[in-house]
Order: sequence, then C-alpha cells, then structure tokens
Amino acid sequence: MKKKDTIESNTYDSSHYTDRINRRDFLKISAAVSSSLMLGSAGLATIPGCGYNSDWKGISFPKVVLHNFKLFDSVSNKLQKDLALIIESDEIRGIERKGDLSQYKDYKVVDLKGFTVLPGLIDNHVHVTVPFMYSVNYNTLSQMNPQIRYNFRNCIMSGITTVRDVGGFPGKLNKFREMADKNEIPGPRVISSLSPIAAREGDLLGAPEKAPYFKNPILKWILGGNYAERPIGVEEIKAACEEMVQLGAQWLKTLQQDHPYSYAPRKLPNHSDDGYKAILKTGEKYGIKCALHEPLLSGFKKGVDLGFHTLEHMPMDGVIPDRYIEKFIKNEMAIMPTIMIYGDSFVINKILDLINDKGGEYLMPEAIKQMSGRLRKTLEMEKSKLSEAAYADLQFDNQYAKDMFPNVTANLKKLHRMGATIGAGSDIGGTASGFFGRFSDELKHYISAGISNFDVLRMATSVNAHILDMEDKIGTIEKGKLADIIAVDGNPLNDISAVDKTMMVMKGGFFVKNIGIDLG
Ligand SMILES: [Zn+2]
Repeated sequence: MKKKDTIESNTYDSSHYTDRINRRDFLKISAAVSSSLMLGSAGLATIPGCGYNSDWKGISFPKVVLHNFKLFDSVSNKLQKDLALIIESDEIRGIERKGDLSQYKDYKVVDLKGFTVLPGLIDNHVHVTVPFMYSVNYNTLSQMNPQIRYNFRNCIMSGITTVRDVGGFPGKLNKFREMADKNEIPGPRVISSLSPIAAREGDLLGAPEKAPYFKNPILKWILGGNYAERPIGVEEIKAACEEMVQLGAQWLKTLQQDHPYSYAPRKLPNHSDDGYKAILKTGEKYGIKCALHEPLLSGFKKGVDLGFHTLEHMPMDGVIPDRYIEKFIKNEMAIMPTIMIYGDSFVINKILDLINDKGGEYLMPEAIKQMSGRLRKTLEMEKSKLSEAAYADLQFDNQYAKDMFPNVTANLKKLHRMGATIGAGSDIGGTASGFFGRFSDELKHYISAGISNFDVLRMATSVNAHILDMEDKIGTIEKGKLADIIAVDGNPLNDISAVDKTMMVMKGGFFVKNIGIDLG
C-alpha cells in the first residue's frame, strides 16, 4: 500500500519522529482533556498526539545506552535509579550501575530526562484489523486499510508493543503485521488467532458476535477473508481450524454465549461439546493454545470443564462459584477481564464527546460516522421503549451491561483474591466504543477494583507475556530480553494514568516514538 494514502495529521502530533509540540503544550492539552473527561476518579485515556504522519520514520542504532531514568522492571515493586540500560541490536545486553558515560564509546547515548522506564505494555485481547465501520459501502472499502494502519499506530504510540489479536481478517492481519515487523509502519508485535471459529445462525449472520460473513469472493478478497469463520458440525470445525493454522494462526479462538448481552430470552447458537473438543484437539496437534469467549457464567463453566487455555471476558450474569475458580487455577488457565466493554456503558456520552473532539486522531471519517452513529443509537435506545421483537433482536443492551457491572467487578476481585492468573485485555476493536489508544482505561478499571498498581502493571507486562508463552522474550526489563521498552512521564506505581503520557517507545531496539528525547 502507498505510504501517503491517508488523512492529514493534526496539531497535536507526537507520533512524528521529531518533537513537534513542546512539553508544556503537551501537558496542558493532556490536563485539559483528562479533566473534562473525569469519571469518578478514573478519567478516560488521553493520548494527545496519535495523529497520522505519512512521513513517519522510526530510527535504530546498532548499540544504545539509555540513562537518566527511573526503572520499573516488572519484577521489583520499587523504582530503581542511577542505572544504564545497554541495548545491542534488538536485545537488552545489560543493566549496569550508571558510571562514566564516556566509557560507551561506540554507543548512542540517550538521556531519558528522568522519565520512568517500563517494559512495553501487552494487550492480550484486541481486534486490530476492525475498521470500526459496520456497514459496507464505498467509504468503508476505501478507508479500511488506512483505519487498520491507524489502529496499528495508535496501539504502539500508546505504549503497547505486543498484542494478542483474537479475531480479525486473516489477509489484513498477515499483511499489516508483516509491515509492522519490518517497521515499515509503526505497530506492535501481533500474535493472532486470525478468524475465530464461531457458530452459525441462519445463513449469513451468526451470533454470538454478529460480524458480517461474506461469501462473495471479490468482497472476501478485498476484506482479506472473513472476520469470523462459521462452520457447522465437527468436520467443518476441524477444517476451519486447519485453515486458520495454515494461514498462520498462533492461537485458536472460539465462542460460547447462551444469550445476547441483554435480558432478552433469545438463545444464541453454540458449538456442541464435540465441536469445542475438536478445536482443542487441533490446537494440541499444532502446539497452539485455545481461547474461549465466555461473557456469561455458563461459558466460564464450560471453558473450565473443557480445559481451554484462556477465557475471554469476565462473566457478567452472576458471581463465579468457588469450585469453578479452584478448577480454573488447577487447570493453570488465565482470563482476560475486558472490563472496559461493560464499563463503557456508563460513559457513552463521554466517549461520543471524545470522538467528536479528537476522533480525527484515531479514526477515519467513515469510522467516526459509523461509530458515533452506533453509540447515539445506544443512547436513544436506552431512553425509548423498544418493541418486544426489536428488543429480542438486540445484541447489546446498555442497561443490562450497567445492571450486571457489579458482578463483573465482584468476579475480578474474587479471582484476584483466590490467586487466579489474570491477564490484561481490553477488547479494543470488539465494541463500537473502544478504539486504539484507550488501553489504560482498561487498567484503570482493575485499579478501581482494588488491585494494586504493581499487580496491574505486572498483568499488562510479565503476566501477559507468560500467558503468551513469551516470558523468555518480553514482559520484563532484564538482560537477554528483547528491547521492548517504553518511557512515561510520572510514576505509574503511584498513578496509573502516567501510562497515558508515553514519551518514548522502543520495539526490539527500534525507536518508534520519542517526545522531548534527543536522538540527534
Ligand atoms: Zn473480543
């Protein structure tokens, strides 16, 4: 794809390699926006400066020494000072007491201005190829690639250097992740399940996720495949899993959900137990882990009983019984809470304002139109009384999400208290409210539930790396790890919103972003 295929950048542009806005302006904008978006103690994420730049260029040096920073290594719960980080090629070669900098003769010596250094963040539940456009028209097709490029960029500019993508268009995922791997575009490492193995309802549309399913080969080719596969029966399920593995899936994802996110009694279709077992078996055959979407208690139980590796979304319709949590722990399973998808129901108005004010930095014009259209519809629906038939057809009832929210936080607290493995995942791309750049809003929900900043930071780094079986490469700042390193303004151990002020992002030794840091 062309380098200059998308919209103009904006004033608050920090994704550019050079320092275009000064720090005072940056902090001013940041403070103004966060204070206007306060929700109780947690404001929505503010990432001033995700503006697109067609001339983005990262930079790398064969040998780098970082100094003048405080270190959160995701091992110790204290910030460490007076250190030098030695990076060679894509790897952390050493962490030394800072001595005389003149000893590093053939190194690029970089002053991090006292910012806090932490491992690159990991979001273990995203949909990075979702264009936030839900009906297909000319604009959707012409703006889809630029929007995916925005998603990749906004993701890494907000400090996320690795994501696990659990559902998207295989062609797009493979194409864009390759470009991000080569640093042709700014973007995170992507571990992906490609298309989820969903169940089918009727012919074209299926639930639980009512993602469009395209049979038209031309449209399918333009879109890079289907967002979700919809096999029926064990043989078709096996074939769909094999196809995903051949296309490069590093994970398999399926779904279990008995009813929509509403009080409507409508039943949603699911696979049979034999179908789920066929998915797990295919995963086992290729050494690939399997994830189960299960926002309701029945799905959580099914996931535990069948032995999925990860469960996606916190169950919302009740509190998980102790014995299921005990079995979950015994099975060494992990859960990605995605609290934001439920919590956003309380702040739709604020998200609409955010899209209105700064949407252009995150979203293409058609995405802004379709996303805000959906959100406005959600608000109208809440006020009006829907007919029974219209209500039964709803995928998501905002009032239901609000009513169930106490269960969601109770389950998060209970799992944490009982010692379950909890990763950090936002489900950005999975709803019309969560666009890339908002990961910290997910983390703020964990803090609100009473989990310590230290534990939340570990969930978003070392715990997520462990879930990905990548703990030997990413998730902490230690000798021998990949140089996935970010620097933020402030101490996230005291105030998690410091992660909104990402001043530097390095992925595998490659500087992707720097604000106020001289690389001269
Ligand atoms: Zn999702």
